[in-house]
Amino acid sequence: MQVVLLIVLLTAHLALAHWYGHTEAVLPQLAMLAVQGMAVWAVFTRYRRSPSLIRLPWLLLALAVLMQMLWDSTNVLATVLGDKGGYLAALATVLSALYVIPCMFMSTRLFTQHEPRTVVALDLVLLCMVAALVYQFFITLLSGPLASDPASIYVVVYLADAIDFSLAAMAILRLFGARSFRWRFFYYVASAYLLVNASVACIYNRVEMHGLPWWAGSLIDVPHALLLVVALRQPPRWLRTYRPSLGVSQTIGSFAPILLAMMVVMLGISTSRINFVLSLLVGAAAVLFYGLRVAFIQSRHIDQQRAIDLSTWRLEQQVGRDPLTGIANRATLDTRLREVLEEGRSTGCFGSLLMIDIDYFKQYNDSLGHIAGDACLIQVAGALSRSQVRARDLVARYGGEEFAIVLVDTNAEVALEVARRLVTAIEHLQIAHPACPLGRLSISIGVATQTEQTPIDPVAMLDQADHALYRAKRNGRNRFEAATGDADPSSALYGASNA
Ligand code: GH3
Ligand code: MG
Ligand code: MG
Repeated sequence: MQVVLLIVLLTAHLALAHWYGHTEAVLPQLAMLAVQGMAVWAVFTRYRRSPSLIRLPWLLLALAVLMQMLWDSTNVLATVLGDKGGYLAALATVLSALYVIPCMFMSTRLFTQHEPRTVVALDLVLLCMVAALVYQFFITLLSGPLASDPASIYVVVYLADAIDFSLAAMAILRLFGARSFRWRFFYYVASAYLLVNASVACIYNRVEMHGLPWWAGSLIDVPHALLLVVALRQPPRWLRTYRPSLGVSQTIGSFAPILLAMMVVMLGISTSRINFVLSLLVGAAAVLFYGLRVAFIQSRHIDQQRAIDLSTWRLEQQVGRDPLTGIANRATLDTRLREVLEEGRSTGCFGSLLMIDIDYFKQYNDSLGHIAGDACLIQVAGALSRSQVRARDLVARYGGEEFAIVLVDTNAEVALEVARRLVTAIEHLQIAHPACPLGRLSISIGVATQTEQTPIDPVAMLDQADHALYRAKRNGRNRFEAATGDADPSSALYGASNA
């Protein structure tokens, strides 16, 4: 349906231009405006159908074509009203300069990355400066004393070509750097339009120098008709299958902003003979803004890296901790015990392990409730951590109401002394335990010390300490026992020791 309407309009444009004999008559120009209106409508349809992240570039493309429409409308008005003061011609020039802004913005922005607002603001300021420069340039060359010089016209035409083809090249580059199909489709449509528009403008401007033939207006229809068809039709298959690598995509993404700065500098150089100060300012601003953009983004990356490091550190801390008591958990215990055993084996300074179990804890829970039981576990964990263990030693919750302490470079004698102090420390907490014979909470401890024969594997060491703990329980609780070294619970090397 739309294609039929498009063909009718294109034919009408040609027929009317032929009828009136020149391209600048009102009716042919209105037909051209209708074709451009259809293109804007097609792009706007894509805009409405797109997810929010990709809407802005479609809107910018629609805006670019809308600028062209405004430019043509101003020309129509100038034809109808007559433009004695040249104001409408000046307005048309401004609009043609403003057309560059949405195009530059959509080809050089990294919409997918959350850029700092300052960077977006800097780019907008730069683009406004570019528009001012282009306007100044066109006005000076087309209406000043230089206007009568044919060389001036050539400078304008070459500059317009350079801008148009650079915009198309940027869009094509972005097409090949887009990893998501929706973005590839957008840049595919944009680059098709910009490339054909640049080629048509290149031909049109040269034809115009020798007087426009009647069919020249239809040339301007070509990019807009193409835009309508490409935006509405199914995209080609290769667009779905092609996918750049992450490296290529990131390189092109990071490269796009420098293209903008480079284009602006080149523009500044070519306009410097018209307005040296403004050109210099715009060129310097492009370089300065690019530097600021890099600095802003880099400082944001540093902030982000710091936040990532912090959350990684927090996560590591949480992974290795017991959530109830906040002390090390079983996983950390295994790792540390293996390290201490390896260190003991290589240096000869053997370590020890204490296995600690709260006495009659089931009864504690049964008589006072599990909430009180949890509070008691936290209290005991705190007391064990505070009690006379060194920074290199590790206090961990083994599971349930059982704890373990790894003592670095500690012989059996010292380990037993530590165990004695711990039993006393828990007694001194004076935690009331109505359901136990003692009337207050107590612990039992099994002590194992590394020897030449102890394997590096923590399991054997845990097994020895556990057997010693078992013996302490059997011998009456609230006490500690040392392992015999052969994991035999029936023989004690150090006799039962009442704390
Ligand atoms: P023993 O003197 O022989 O060690 O007797 P016990 O009652 O302490 O040992 P038992 O293994 O029979 O019971 C351990 C109890 O510890 C059972 C369970 O309800 C309690 N327990 C284990 N984990 C937790 C916990 O996270 N919170 C609370 N409140 N209780 C726990
Ligand atoms: Mg137990
Ligand atoms: Mg117990």
